[in-house]
Amino acid sequence: MSTADTKLLGVMGWPVAHSRSPAIHSAAIEALGVDAVYVAWPVRPEALPAAIEGLRALGVHGANLTLPHKERAMALLDEVEPTARAIGAVNTIVRDGARLIGTNTDAAGLARSLADAGISLRGARALVIGAGGAARASVAGLAGAGAAEVVVAARRPARADALVRALEPIADGTALHALDLRDAGEAAPRTDLLVQATSATLGEGPEAEALASGLPWDALPADAAVVDLVYAPLETTVLRAAAARGLRTVDGLGMLVHQAALALERWLGLKPPVEAMREAARR
Ligand code: NAP
Repeated sequence: MSTADTKLLGVMGWPVAHSRSPAIHSAAIEALGVDAVYVAWPVRPEALPAAIEGLRALGVHGANLTLPHKERAMALLDEVEPTARAIGAVNTIVRDGARLIGTNTDAAGLARSLADAGISLRGARALVIGAGGAARASVAGLAGAGAAEVVVAARRPARADALVRALEPIADGTALHALDLRDAGEAAPRTDLLVQATSATLGEGPEAEALASGLPWDALPADAAVVDLVYAPLETTVLRAAAARGLRTVDGLGMLVHQAALALERWLGLKPPVEAMREAARR
């Protein structure tokens, strides 16, 4: 039973019904035995300012943001942490007294999921495919974990250039470069980790097939690893192509689970029950 002391948590999105966050966080709340609830808030784009004010008025303890709110919310919060600002997206709101602070746990979530898979990022060289929000978070995560170099390859190279310029201030010792996706083969021979960060591998259609078949597989070292941030399906065309070549593969579920775990840790100050969260994410 909830009371006036129950901590309110939730995710705002439009649409939000597909979000796995309520299941992941509810499993964590149950495993921890804390007095909290996590719900989904369908918030239309035009209602976001009122919804953020609503968080304040209702004393909501913390919130996640998903599409299409991650970018626009930045202007509505009291503070946005530097990594989230460089990424250009807030996926988590943390309360500090009356102040709402925006952070981004996708970046560190990717790094943690790779660490879980036994992939060391310190000094690594990565090739990121795509230049959208997930690619930006990936570059921040890889740089934050001490990668030596990150090359961003996008079908619209101007977007890759813009991503590199935006992330350079926080890259701190990680060399960032931009490439046209058609030239990704130039970076492939020195790649330890390929990160598929486009939305092309959602589903199984011709776009997913075309992206996978166009990647520079023959130029990648035999010990390279491949991660696809898309987790529906879990085994994407890119992961299938990588596995067929004997490369190590990591699916996108780990990043989803760890971004949630990092948010929960910020809200509750407790060690998150990652395995229970992973189990709930799989369902
Ligand atoms: P986004 O901002 O819309 O960006 C999508 C990117 O994919 C853009 O750079 C786009 O290029 C590129 N793209 C789409 N189709 C392509 C194709 N056929 N060939 C080459 N590039 C293509 O989306 P996002 O927020 O970055 O998310 C991308 C995917 O990551 C989502 O589908 C989501 O499932 C996944 N994701 C997973 C996690 C996780 O926790 N595992 C977290 C965040 C996102 P243009 O700009 O040229 O259109």
